[in-house]
Amino acid sequence: MKPQRCVAEGLFEWPSDEPTVSGSRCDSCSFVTFPTQDACPRCGADATTPTQLARTGTLWTWTRQRFQPKNPPYIGTEPANEFQPYGVGFIELPEGRIEARIAGDIDQELRIGMPMELTVVPFATDADGTEVLTYAFRPIEG
Ligand SMILES: [Zn+2]
Repeated sequence: MKPQRCVAEGLFEWPSDEPTVSGSRCDSCSFVTFPTQDACPRCGADATTPTQLARTGTLWTWTRQRFQPKNPPYIGTEPANEFQPYGVGFIELPEGRIEARIAGDIDQELRIGMPMELTVVPFATDADGTEVLTYAFRPIEG
């Protein structure tokens, strides 16, 4: 089995059978941010509490990334002809909208408002062979 690592420390809980992304909730107005922030962007309060966001939500909008983005911010180092296209979108969670990869086949059928759930997917490989994992959302079956 290949070694694996999360793309960024503190972005999501892993390993877990039911991964969740990690955000922060404002102690004053309860506004939730993702990723975690020390100060509230809504009311300016500087006290927030770590919180795990809901695992399920609905698809708000999405697009398909069919060409290799520039590195950085894209961290993949594969040759351009090995680039795997992927979906990317916004998921409406009870706490707010977050940007995420869409897991699964790029040409899978998606529709706005469909139920989605969080998963963790490999999306790049380090020079030493370590698989880099990130969070993504996939349609809930059935
Ligand atoms: Zn606030």
